[in-house]
Amino acid sequence: MSNLDNINARIDNAAKKLNGFKKIWCCDVEARMDNGAWEQFSAVRVWHRSPHTDQPHKGGLRFHPSVNMEMMKAHAVEMSFKCWLMGIEWGGAKGGIAIDPSKHSAQELKNVTEALVDEMDETNILGPFRDVPAPDVGTTPKIMNWIRQRYAQRRRSREDARFAAVVTGKPIDHGFGGIPGRVEATGYGLVSLLHYIHTNKNMACLPKNPHETTLAVMGFGNVGAHVALFAERLGYRVVAISDVYGGVYSENGILPAIAIQHMQKTGSVAGTPGTIPISNENLLLLPCTVLIPAALENAITKENAPMIQASIVIEGANGPTTPEADAILESRGITVIPDILANAGGVTVSFFEWARNVSIRDERVPNAEQKAVLDAMSTMLRSACDDVFRTAEKYNTSYRNAAYITAIDRVTPLFRTKHMA
Ligand code: NAD
Repeated sequence: MSNLDNINARIDNAAKKLNGFKKIWCCDVEARMDNGAWEQFSAVRVWHRSPHTDQPHKGGLRFHPSVNMEMMKAHAVEMSFKCWLMGIEWGGAKGGIAIDPSKHSAQELKNVTEALVDEMDETNILGPFRDVPAPDVGTTPKIMNWIRQRYAQRRRSREDARFAAVVTGKPIDHGFGGIPGRVEATGYGLVSLLHYIHTNKNMACLPKNPHETTLAVMGFGNVGAHVALFAERLGYRVVAISDVYGGVYSENGILPAIAIQHMQKTGSVAGTPGTIPISNENLLLLPCTVLIPAALENAITKENAPMIQASIVIEGANGPTTPEADAILESRGITVIPDILANAGGVTVSFFEWARNVSIRDERVPNAEQKAVLDAMSTMLRSACDDVFRTAEKYNTSYRNAAYITAIDRVTPLFRTKHMA
């Protein structure tokens, strides 16, 4: 190791010390299955240590077989940086249950969700000012409502009456406490950012005409489907989409509404009329303008990065690009708009929802009307984007580094005063 490596290792160690976790919680939740048997599922929840000691921790709740502590720790840290970058005063959190929701009935999922709420509430870690989960992979507004409902039932006679704020991403019908725009927030935010970069940032790799700008979207869930819908609405050409079962391609552009209809009928976008099949591996390698990984982490790796032909990667998913792949993309001149900026529309609208539920007055929070919500969110995203681009220019570094530097810049004074003797 050189002297420079030594000092860099020391700086990394010091950063890790500040970068610890406030809560690491795991539990085997027990729930009754439709056949009467009881089954156990492993659940985890992690809080990243935050300087916002008077504010809740916030982050997605994932239902997926791959959920484990290490992965949730990484996402909790990411979540803190995302909030800091957006100027939202929350600590990061993340959690989930190792379960495949497609293999369970709605009643079984409800039982599992309620068991999770019971276990979290027993240890007093859930609550509008403690920890506020939100939808993530495999979870939906309906599941968020089960959380709200169970928490309210358990706490009805106790101190905290603002039950709805225990979770965001709730349904928007009367009485549920959701906010219009939350379901589409992450996908809409990503597209509004793409459009802003396209029209304001003078990037040579983006054709002037949106229709000549082609998009390939990996993952057609909440994030990916809304990316496709809004991109098509703005005139971009979505040439490929996929889900865990496979993908589809059309040079002339796929109509997302048709793909959604097909998915609702068959459970997958594979076989959408007017398209040809493509594998997830090949979708990543398509010659297109914008590649949007919107499924799971580690999709772009050192193996496929040398063959990626897109000009820009915009990260809809959290952590879809490995650090080795990042270096390869950078050396090949492929721009990456990082997750903590690109998919921050979701947490921003969650912030609006929560602030309205707890009646906090904050000038950033709009009326509960879809257009006002999406406009307010886009304004915050664009302002964060300007800061990241300025920082990238100032330090002559990637947008990912710049996003982290911007987030650290914002939060450093808080850490400094917190640790003052
Ligand atoms: P989702 O469960 O609604 O959708 C996930 C999609 O990915 C599905 O279409 C699924 O079939 C597909 N998929 C899963 N494994 C795949 C694989 N191996 N190959 C290809 N496709 C695969 O989840 P979501 O809410 O859309 O989240 C997607 C990503 O976006 C996650 O990384 C999540 O953390 C991130 N994210 C979500 C939000 C949000 O508001 N929901 C906000 C910020 C970031």
